[in-house]
Amino acid sequence: TNTRFIGKSTSGLAIMGGTFDPVHNGHLRTAVEILDRYGYSTLKLVPCYQPVHKGQPGVSASQRLEMVKLAISGDVRLSVDAREIDREGPSYTVDTLRDIRAEIGPDEPLIMVLGMDSFLSLPTWYDWSTLIEYAHLLIVSRPGWEPDLISELSAFCEKHRAASSHELQCAPSGRIWFETLTPLGISSSMIRSLAHKNESIAYLLPEPVQEYIEQHQLYR
Ligand code: ATP
Ligand code: MG
Repeated sequence: TNTRFIGKSTSGLAIMGGTFDPVHNGHLRTAVEILDRYGYSTLKLVPCYQPVHKGQPGVSASQRLEMVKLAISGDVRLSVDAREIDREGPSYTVDTLRDIRAEIGPDEPLIMVLGMDSFLSLPTWYDWSTLIEYAHLLIVSRPGWEPDLISELSAFCEKHRAASSHELQCAPSGRIWFETLTPLGISSSMIRSLAHKNESIAYLLPEPVQEYIEQHQLYR
């Protein structure tokens, strides 16, 4: 058994937002490692409609959604939440977390999983310091990104850092924790660039997603 598995409680909902342009094994491996370590029953991938801090995605929102659906079909613990795409417009994470919190009630732990790169950009997000009122922030390592926190962010961390990861299962929200995961140097940009050069994208993402990209000639 996994000694880092915290209790057998399945309470707690984990969510992971992203552009998923396209979804890849770095996202999926992050999701399953967090599920295994924390024992949450579900992790929801939340594809954004319009990313606020980067250019327009390479393919349509419905195609990105379709690829996420293909990617998660093999694991019952993974699901997709299309609310940002249904909502259209710029996707503000704080709106999404507020919605989900309203749905699950005040007591259930809600955990937002963020890669280190996303976390470092947090102070540029709309209403960023409110996020923690609705959810915990679980920051995962990502190759190439060191936790060089600007002062605004390190003060925020000092204020909210959990004493142990256990707190992310007890309290409903309000804590920050860092996890080191299996390093996978995979990114969507790298996959888009390989596809653009007509080079293989095999083994970086699930086969059904690779087939979808090839069939629809995406990212060419
Ligand atoms: P792009 O290259 O287009 O920015 P990306 O690979 O960073 O794409 P996103 O959809 O932007 O993918 O990322 C969604 C979330 O997943 C972010 O929190 C990001 O930090 C995290 N993430 C993506 N790839 C990895 C990885 N290889 N390891 C750990 N976390 C990752
Ligand atoms: Mg990114």
